[in-house]
Amino acid sequence: MNLSERPAARMNLVGGRLCLDFVNTVGGWNPDPSSGKNGPYAAVPRADKLNDYFDLLAWSLHTGLFSENEAQALAREAGRREKEAAATLKRAVALRGAIYRICAAVIHESLPRAADLDLLNRELNVANGRVRLGVGEENFVWEWTDTKNALDRMLWQIADSSAEMLTTDDLTRLRGCPGKDCGWLFLDLSKNSRRQWCDMQACGNLAKVRRFRQRQSS
Ligand SMILES: [Zn+2]
Repeated sequence: MNLSERPAARMNLVGGRLCLDFVNTVGGWNPDPSSGKNGPYAAVPRADKLNDYFDLLAWSLHTGLFSENEAQALAREAGRREKEAAATLKRAVALRGAIYRICAAVIHESLPRAADLDLLNRELNVANGRVRLGVGEENFVWEWTDTKNALDRMLWQIADSSAEMLTTDDLTRLRGCPGKDCGWLFLDLSKNSRRQWCDMQACGNLAKVRRFRQRQSS
């Protein structure tokens, strides 16, 4: 199966953390008009890049989570276990929404919704159940177990990445891109902490052109 031709395999990886690149598997995040008082924490994905399980595989291959061989083996497995593959995609999309909203809450300096934190914790429990202590070269190392046929193994790593970021990173550097129809998330790792756009080429320049046109027409 040709996974690398899929849009999910050509996403711009600018989040700075795996979990944020995962949140950015959409064209953009639009504010949910029905969100009412939930305001900025509720958003709906626009131009979703994860439309079936194979998109999820394609993205995992693109980010280097899996090798080509591993991804192809899982693709064959998914063909045999269609229902489970569909359920995994559903879990992935739910996890993505929860991570997005938790991050949006952080950015807006408010508390995340309990339901979102619960969902992330459930996925973390699954991930933690797949970790074992193995023998490394100098120290012992954490290893993932039973990775071969586990259709959901990318979710373990995404949940793990979220927990890692939320517990250890400087969250005042978490940002949402203000580009029109964008809303992608990223961790500002720049020295001066003044990164504004998900990608200067994509959103930054567009905004410049838009400002220029506005000035000309006024
Ligand atoms: Zn952007």
